[in-house]
Amino acid sequence: MLSISLGLPEFKVIKQELLSYGYAIHVEKTETQERCPHCGFATSSVHDKRTRKVRDLAIFHQPVYLFVKVKRYRCRNCSQVFSASLESISPNQHYTNRFCEYLYELCEGSTI
Ligand SMILES: [Zn+2]
Repeated sequence: MLSISLGLPEFKVIKQELLSYGYAIHVEKTETQERCPHCGFATSSVHDKRTRKVRDLAIFHQPVYLFVKVKRYRCRNCSQVFSASLESISPNQHYTNRFCEYLYELCEGSTI
């Protein structure tokens, strides 16, 4: 199977597969430490992990879905639980940022 270069340096690819509906690429963030958004304390104490499924730019005309393993951390200073921040995906977004940009370009000048 061919190896896909994602071009998203914050992630490492764990697994990739070609499914009936497109490519499924399983990734996780290479960074294992996060700064607490509440108090700024750096922590690597993982609370739990969740998988987010987001749409990314097509490769070879196949839709691409990223399965992003997102760690949640518990701050050892203020005990708040928070998710790792992602540069390429906004919170509660089902697309990567670059896929959104692509959609905007596609829709420019057309009425929906
Ligand atoms: Zn904190």
